[in-house]
Amino acid sequence: KADGKGCWRTFDPALEEKAQHHRQLDLDMREALAADAMELHYQPLVDLRSGRVAGFEALLRWNKPGHGWVSPGEVIPVAEATGFIVEIGRWALGRACADALAWNGLRVAVNISSIHVRMPGFHEEVAAVLRETGLRPDLLEIEITESVLLDHGAEVLENLNRLRAQGVRIALDDFGTGYSSLSYLTEFPFDKVKVDRSFVRDLQGRPEKVAVVEAIARMARALSMTVTVEGVETRQQLDVLRDKRCDVAQGFLYSPARPASEVAALVARIEGAGLPPREGDPPAA
Ligand code: C2E
Ligand code: MG
Ligand code: MG
Ligand code: MG
Repeated sequence: KADGKGCWRTFDPALEEKAQHHRQLDLDMREALAADAMELHYQPLVDLRSGRVAGFEALLRWNKPGHGWVSPGEVIPVAEATGFIVEIGRWALGRACADALAWNGLRVAVNISSIHVRMPGFHEEVAAVLRETGLRPDLLEIEITESVLLDHGAEVLENLNRLRAQGVRIALDDFGTGYSSLSYLTEFPFDKVKVDRSFVRDLQGRPEKVAVVEAIARMARALSMTVTVEGVETRQQLDVLRDKRCDVAQGFLYSPARPASEVAALVARIEGAGLPPREGDPPAA
């Protein structure tokens, strides 16, 4: 394209190499999922008023033999391009709901690609998974990103309304990035917005960033939604977010995503430590 109209390149070695890499990755992914070599790890969501763990977000993890951990940032785009993401989504829903059965009432949040969430039967797939696993519908949260709302609003709205009617929670992920439109917040039935990590980075000494987070929290409250903030890494960030009345924090300060077998220990550790006192609070007696 950059070479101007009418000029077509039939063979670009760099592009061809990339395409080949994607084809191989796609094959490897299919093989891994079929061989049960993909995993979900779980990152805690911590309630900022009580200090208790409110639930966990399921995140895809793939330890590729001879290669090490492959990041979702690398495989999700390829899986979206080939459509394989729909199978990953089905698998993740089943696995996450089955794992969450053991959590005594903690919620599990599952990321679902826009390609999947706009498919006409999506709400029925979710209903079937809930029936088969026996998980209470209100313990499942679906995380979707704004990009899905742009071109497929009607299909998505139908699915989200049907999910909501079953009791499933809906979260708008990565809020504040991409195609953000505030009108989405009034037109789609979200229970929660998840403020993107980019808003939390360098929060200290950046009053304009704090102001944006505070405004999002205020707006969400007015719309009866809760606010989760991703990427909380420091005590200082936590203090600011509590001060601005965000509801839930997620980040390395508490824990990265860990295997299902560690969920109970994570809950015990986080709840055992309690919320740190805020700066300026009187010392505990
Ligand atoms: P996301 O849904 O916004 O998930 C949060 C990401 O932030 C995760 O990255 C998590 O590991 C990372 N994170 C959490 N706390 C911190 C922190 O304090 N510091 C830093 N630096 N990072 C933090 P991850 O696991 O690499 O996933 C990246 C994205 O890939 C996810 O972003 C989500 O969009 C997508 N993804 C992951 N698993 C799945 C899945 O099963 N299905 C689909 N469709 N997408 C997935
Ligand atoms: Mg997410
Ligand atoms: Mg997110
Ligand atoms: Mg994010």
